[in-house]
Amino acid sequence: MTQGNNPNLADAALEGASQSPDASIAADDGMVATSAAGLSYPHGDSAPEVGALIDIAPGVRWARIPMPGSLDHINSWILGDDATGLTIVDTGLMVDACSAAWKALFAGALAGARVERILCTHLHPDHIGLAGWLARRFDVPLAMTRGEWLNARLMLADMRDTPPEEVSAMQRAAGWDADAIDHARAQGWSRLGQVIFRLPYGYQRLVDGQILSISGQDWQVVVGSGHSPEHACLWNAAAGILISGDQILPRISSNVSLNAGEPEGNPLGEWLTSIDKLLTLPDNLLVCPAHGEPFYGFHARLQALKAEHLDRLDALSDALRDAQRAVDIFPLLFRRPIGDKQRGLATGEALAHLRWLEVAGRITRETRDGVWWWQQV
Ligand SMILES: [Zn+2]
Repeated sequence: MTQGNNPNLADAALEGASQSPDASIAADDGMVATSAAGLSYPHGDSAPEVGALIDIAPGVRWARIPMPGSLDHINSWILGDDATGLTIVDTGLMVDACSAAWKALFAGALAGARVERILCTHLHPDHIGLAGWLARRFDVPLAMTRGEWLNARLMLADMRDTPPEEVSAMQRAAGWDADAIDHARAQGWSRLGQVIFRLPYGYQRLVDGQILSISGQDWQVVVGSGHSPEHACLWNAAAGILISGDQILPRISSNVSLNAGEPEGNPLGEWLTSIDKLLTLPDNLLVCPAHGEPFYGFHARLQALKAEHLDRLDALSDALRDAQRAVDIFPLLFRRPIGDKQRGLATGEALAHLRWLEVAGRITRETRDGVWWWQQV
């Protein structure tokens, strides 16, 4: 096997990988613009330039990896020091803009640095896209929780040309018309593999509550769920820093979707439980998110996100005096019009809210001709 710490081989493999950047593949942003009251940004609007880092605290540096699409960028957090070994948290997509940004860092602010681990907070392509490349480039392990790792491997192993029947059936159940379903089928399936470099065969498992020692500093793994199955945040109690991934974002609310892979799940229930869990951490943390700028106001942000979901659930329950389909409630949940590009995410979010109300016993579902109609109890 050709392995080893050989940047040239890893880079050659990157060149050879299929590159068809499609921003819509990585659309990971939430549908709900949320209040940012009570937040403050110690670095203001500034962000690191390509090839440069901003110091957040000793052993914590910030890189910004530009990305196509509405998300615009992902933040990567460089933990540890150059001499004892760095942990790189989150990586960007396998597209030229992202790999070029890493190459600029390795020629610039990170020139000569020793990397000991690549760590991904969760499986979404903007987070793991270049993890396999970086792990191979430095011949170091990739660390993830088991839930994220297995789902990533599962997603990448499921190659097919058209969406599974179950996905089309769920779209129909949500109220999509034939044109919308055909449009989605024409988009194909397994496109995520186009923006994710081949993952290593094995991984280093992260477990909730585990303490990772990085250059002498302790980072506790704090797992949340709802946006993804087993999302890892990293909490440095001594430094007062939380690397939050997509589990808490300052300016957008993370997408929480019911999906056809687990149609009887309750992702919004998991999300709200995770918010309560995060509220047991101290309020005065500097939160370093995957998108947006580092901020203070941790609990205020969590409370705002929670209140917003609960308000929408109440409004939704009120609106369901008459039976409605998932597509009928888009205007109630989203402030922007929903077109072809947003329909999938919007449907997932709408179903997550409906499913939460159903689990709570506040609404029931009747299936008529393959379409779900939801109504207040
Ligand atoms: Zn995500």
